Amino acid sequence: MQSCPIKTRFAPSPTGLMHLGNLRTALFNLLLARGPAGGCFVLRIEDTDRERSSAGAATALMQELRWLGLDWDAGPQCVGPGGPWWQSERAALYAELYPRLEQSREAYPCFCSDRELQYQRETQLAARQPPRYTGICRRLSDAEIRVRLGRGERPTLRFRVPAGRTIVYPDLVRGEQRAVTDEFGDFIIRRADGSAAFLFCNAVDDALMGITHVLRGEDHLANTPRQLLLLEALGLRAPWYGHLPMIVGGDGTPLAKRHGSRSVAALREAGYLPGALLNYLARLGHAYGDIGLQGIKELAYAFDVQRIGRAPARFDPQQLDYWQQQAVTEAPVAMLEVWLDGARVPVEQRQRFVEILRANVRFPNEIQEWAERIYGSLPPPDEPAREILRAAGVEFFETALRLVDEDEGLSLQRLRQATGLRGRSLFLPLRLALTGEPHGPELAELLMLISPQHLRERLCRASKLARAR
Ligand code: GLU
Repeated sequence: MQSCPIKTRFAPSPTGLMHLGNLRTALFNLLLARGPAGGCFVLRIEDTDRERSSAGAATALMQELRWLGLDWDAGPQCVGPGGPWWQSERAALYAELYPRLEQSREAYPCFCSDRELQYQRETQLAARQPPRYTGICRRLSDAEIRVRLGRGERPTLRFRVPAGRTIVYPDLVRGEQRAVTDEFGDFIIRRADGSAAFLFCNAVDDALMGITHVLRGEDHLANTPRQLLLLEALGLRAPWYGHLPMIVGGDGTPLAKRHGSRSVAALREAGYLPGALLNYLARLGHAYGDIGLQGIKELAYAFDVQRIGRAPARFDPQQLDYWQQQAVTEAPVAMLEVWLDGARVPVEQRQRFVEILRANVRFPNEIQEWAERIYGSLPPPDEPAREILRAAGVEFFETALRLVDEDEGLSLQRLRQATGLRGRSLFLPLRLALTGEPHGPELAELLMLISPQHLRERLCRASKLARAR
């Protein structure tokens, strides 16, 4: 594992359902690791925030990743070295590192209470200063610290940000970045309850796990220079960081429910296929050119961090549905057959039914509606449909009925010969009579699915409707 030329990771905090933004981050990291150079993709669960994290959310997240085919090479549920993969189980590793920073005085205990910190923040804001830790506990003497610890006070541990430095680093996506340390306050690396704070365990774990590249959301941009300082102080190697542009809705604001965004679980339940989500998300903020629906391997080979845009990526539900249509068209039949569970399609016709219908449906409910149209009962036709049936005339349907009786089925060619009709005047009334719909899959193919008994019933019905005034 240590010899992977590229080692990326997905490091979710299991605090709720996985959404498209998170999934895209996971996907980009996986694609980077699966490129031609080869690499490893690690899953690490960042569950140090005990109140907000849950094992259930972590399990669900792993199920979603597996469903999508985003398998990790190292992480929970994998055998092999390198763990633990849950941050809540890594406390002993962190505990070894704090004393290094305390001894070198790059970290100090901070006794400020939440109330005091709140007051400091409000005072700074009122004075139109950016809120940052004022440094009150920076200057405590060893004696004062001992006294306060002796009183049973439980401090946090803060990293002492060095003054007057400019941190310059190349961001994989955004190019060179600069940050001035005088603008940061000293930040917490260990909470008062002894648990590791995000900036610390996130950076330390990347280094300890040998992560080489981190692609993550732009919302972490301000964390990166702080984490670089921290790793430098610890003598640990920092990964390359790249910050992905935000995903926004049609109105340019961060993606939310009102833009049509749903959790991955909700999309799965609605019938979206893994290939649709992956192909759509791989292109959300990354340019692929015109390569059509691809598998993960192909997407990975064509993935290039230089093709990640810097502008916010706009979520477009129609594009997602376009990829769904592509994925349905190319899916193995067995994957779509499960959509027919509970539908009226006879077992021996399921495969055929899927093959015929797949170009006309995108979701399970649509194929179920077709199953009902073909094998169930038809809703009463609307007025334009009645008009078409009347225009075709009783004679047309009676001729079709006679052919069904003679042939125990209906051939379009025979109907064409018998009626002298062709094109639209032949197909449209027949389609409406048999499916209730003016559009749909090839009529000749649909005819192979409909039993003679059903053909008779529907043609009789159409004949009656054609007679009605
Ligand atoms: N747990 C963090 C998150 O979900 C990880 C951030 C990162 O990728 O570094 O936002």
